[in-house]
Amino acid sequence: LAKGMGKGGWQRYQSDLAHAMVQRLELRTQLHEAIEDEQFVLQFQPIVELADQRVTGVEALVRWQHPVRGLLGPFHFVEAAEENGAILGIGDWVMREALRQIAAWKAADPDTSLRYVSVNVSPRQFRAPDFVEQVRSALAAAGARPEWLLLEVTESLVLKDADKVVQDLRALRALGVRVAIDDFGTGYSSLSYLRQMPVDVLKLDKSFIDDILTSRQQHALVEAIVTLAGNLDLAVVAEGIEQAGQRAALDTMGCRYGQGYHFAKPLWPADIPALIESPRPAALSA
Ligand code: C2E
Ligand code: MG
Ligand code: MG
Ligand code: MG
Repeated sequence: LAKGMGKGGWQRYQSDLAHAMVQRLELRTQLHEAIEDEQFVLQFQPIVELADQRVTGVEALVRWQHPVRGLLGPFHFVEAAEENGAILGIGDWVMREALRQIAAWKAADPDTSLRYVSVNVSPRQFRAPDFVEQVRSALAAAGARPEWLLLEVTESLVLKDADKVVQDLRALRALGVRVAIDDFGTGYSSLSYLRQMPVDVLKLDKSFIDDILTSRQQHALVEAIVTLAGNLDLAVVAEGIEQAGQRAALDTMGCRYGQGYHFAKPLWPADIPALIESPRPAALSA
């Protein structure tokens, strides 16, 4: 590390490191205040049908509009918020805001192809004793139907404490809310294990999609997962599609849904309606 670094370089490295640590600590202490000051905002990334690229859902992705440091992505604060508990307040706000937003889009265009909003739920948030009640209350407050909500949970959540988690997942599904396993493939769960879990959707992690055009093995693996998931009645969303060739390959494999920069980056709410206009008969739209 220190090799090739002059003495000045080493000192600069140390002070950069100290600076980064101070910044992290500062952010951490500002998180609770940020909730009260309503400094969080949402972007939405389209989830499309691979066959015709129509938008069927959007994923809500939280950002922190920091008064000094500008717009910060989840990488900068979600882990810290999970550790100090701020994620409970942030997560509740995200769910309420996401539901308010989809209710508004649905009201503006009742025939929209947009069916649901997908909301990330952190393990700590899911494990709160009243989580199911929070979901119910957020739906009611927004006047949103349960089918409009897809909750994204992690593999690690369903692997630990399975009994309590399964109970809550069942309660959510009884409400009509659907559940997805996010970043599938990065944890240690197997598809056969997942089948015992009351979930509806698998979101196949970007790391699986990256190499499908260059690695025959990776292509075969993803194809096998898509086939098995289909046989288990799980819908599959491929994450992180960046190239037209990946869309085509996944479509051919029978993967129905996808998300990624190839279709759209996360967008501000105002930019969504243009993408989700209700389908018009071809003859009329000409
Ligand atoms: P995720 O749930 O897997 O969300 C997808 C992430 O991949 C997003 O990053 C999105 O911008 C990015 N992405 C989508 N398509 C592409 C692509 O084609 N290429 C590349 N390179 N990236 C792509 P983002 O917004 O930075 O979010 C990162 C993670 O932060 C999310 O991963 C999720 O785990 C977490 N997160 C975001 N919002 C929330 C939230 O409200 N609550 C909680 N607990 N976690 C959240
Ligand atoms: Mg997600
Ligand atoms: Mg994901
Ligand atoms: Mg991911």
